[in-house]
Formats: sequence, structure tokens, C-alpha cells
Amino acid sequence: MQTKVENLYKIIDLDIHNGTYNNFVILDKDSHCEFSFGGLLRLPRGLTSLCSGQPWLVYWNLNSLNIMKMPIPEEVSSQVIALLSECICPYTGAFCGGPSQDPHLAPTYASVAALISLNSAKGYSIINRKGIHDFIVSMKHKTVPGAFTMHTDGESDMRSVYCAICVASVLNILDDAVTKDVSYHIANCQNYDGGFSAEPNGESHGGYTFCAVASLIMLEKASLVDCERALEWCLMRQMDIEGGFNGRPNKLVDSCYTFWIGAAIVMLKDVLNIPKEVQICSSEALQAYVMVACQSPMGLFDKPGSSPDYYHTAYSLGGLSFFQEPKMFKESILDLADIDPLVNALKKNVEDARKYFIELGPI
Ligand SMILES: [Zn+2]
Repeated sequence: MQTKVENLYKIIDLDIHNGTYNNFVILDKDSHCEFSFGGLLRLPRGLTSLCSGQPWLVYWNLNSLNIMKMPIPEEVSSQVIALLSECICPYTGAFCGGPSQDPHLAPTYASVAALISLNSAKGYSIINRKGIHDFIVSMKHKTVPGAFTMHTDGESDMRSVYCAICVASVLNILDDAVTKDVSYHIANCQNYDGGFSAEPNGESHGGYTFCAVASLIMLEKASLVDCERALEWCLMRQMDIEGGFNGRPNKLVDSCYTFWIGAAIVMLKDVLNIPKEVQICSSEALQAYVMVACQSPMGLFDKPGSSPDYYHTAYSLGGLSFFQEPKMFKESILDLADIDPLVNALKKNVEDARKYFIELGPI
């Protein structure tokens, strides 16, 4: 993979360490927007296996369009709200992966994040806060204090903690019943190397580290863990030759970690009072990896040799939004919107959503 990426950089004589090149590369936002619109409301035949992840497809593509500052037409917004309404479980009020499926924490997060991406009162009106609160509490693990299962009798890991805490935080339903023991459970998942694992005594992983750090910040309990060591672990994920992040030591580079690791770095810098302007990882190298090695004519992918997909498009763009300056290619303007690293949706929309649900008061 290092050779593949190096060969791509050689085409334009790109030196990601010295910032020299003989031709610049642009982020082809028009084409990536077309790609994202194409996957928003239609499940392509080749993706029927994602039938249980329909709110995710909606969310990823709305978030990509928002990051690229592409307006969402009113008609599309109404269709999204109609689809997500059909994904609400009539018994619990939580969201399912598709109509008539089982309620699940992951599509509940994805649906709420999609509605935040639309930022309309009409969208927020379909959210059953009491139902979602009670569903989250019912997902608390029976034998591991502070953990959550994804669905009834389902798996339990740091993703379910994040989905539960993020949704409860934004919807203003983060009470003691939801938060009991959660921060201690997360702290138990921090390893000697500083990263976080899915469950206690597992291997540190970029995605779980994002979930753990974001959840702790939303719980106002970041002081329970070693944030300096967590930041150091994240910084070690930037690869010297490729410039992008990997998700674990000795794993291949992957563009989605531009968000998972990048957002964790942004959050940990904030917790540790490191000024925003202090550069502790190379923005230029991240831009080079995403723009030169991961762009297809339409959409982005994880690493050279892969096909573009909606997930990697959303997470590489989201990560890039944090690392737009300083520029690798001085001639190329990224102009990506600001993202809230805790929720992974437009910063302004998250602020509006929090205000909206605070005004609704307690459930
Ligand atoms: Zn990936």
C-alpha cells in the first residue's frame, strides 16, 4: 500500500513532507455531490445488504452534501423525513435500520444525525424523545455496569455507548438513568497505550477511541482518563509515507480515520487546552492522502484499489473539514463547512438542535 500511494504521489512529484509538487490536485466537489445525491434515497441493487442500514445511507450522504456546502432541496428533505418516519419502531419510538425492522441504537443515532443534518422543525417533530430515552435505558447491559447493547440481546461495545450518549445529549434526555456507571465503563476501556477498545482489555482502535472520547466529553467526565496519552496514541496513527491515518498500529492507512482519529485529535486538543492554531499533526499530508490517493471521478474510497462508497466519502470529507489549513496545494480551495466533532454533523445545525431540544424542556 505504501508503494501504491508513493507511486501516485510520484505522478505529480509530490513530497508530502516538504510540500513541493509539480501539479496541484483539487477536491472535485461537484462530482462528489452528484455521487452523494445518487445514494441518498435510493438503495442501489448492489447495496441491498444495506437494507438494515437505510438511515445510515441517508445520514452519510446528507452529511457529505452539508460538508461540501451543497443545499438540500426541500423536496429531498421531505422525502428523507418520510423515510425516517417509516423507520420508527411503533412499540418503542426508537429508530430501526429500515421499515418494520427491530429498534436499534445505531440507526437511532444515524436517524437523529440525519435529522440534525436537515435542521428543520418538521424533521425534529418526528422524534419521540420519551420513547428513545426509555429505549436507551432498556439497552443498558444486564451484567456489565455502564455498557449498552445495540439492540435487545445484541452485541455490546463502545459504539453502542457513543450512540446512546450522543443521541441522549443532543435530545436533552441525558439523565441519571442513562448516564449511571457509563463514564467508569469507558475509563475501564482505556488501555496502557492510551487508546480505547470496544470493551475492557481489548485492542485499542481508532473508531472506539473516537466513541470513547466524544462520549466522555458529552458526559463532562474527560478528567477520568489520561487524555494526553490518548492524544499521543491518536497522533501515532498518522503514517509517514502515505500521510493518512490508520485505525490501529500495524494496520493499513484508511481515509475514514481522517474523521475518527482527526475528530478525536480535535476534541482532545480542546480538553487539553492546546490552542487550535497549534499544529500537532500534518494537515497537508492528510489533504494529500485524501485528495490524491482516495478520490475517484465520483466519490471517495478508503485506499487505492478500492471502489468509492458513501461511508468513506462522508468520513474522509468530514475529517478533511478539520484539516483545511495549512494547504498542501496552495492553488486548491477546499471551502468545507465546519463540523461538530462530537456529533459529526454541521456545527451550526448541532447548536440549533441542542437549543431546540433544551427549549422543549425535560421529558
Ligand atoms: Zn475505512
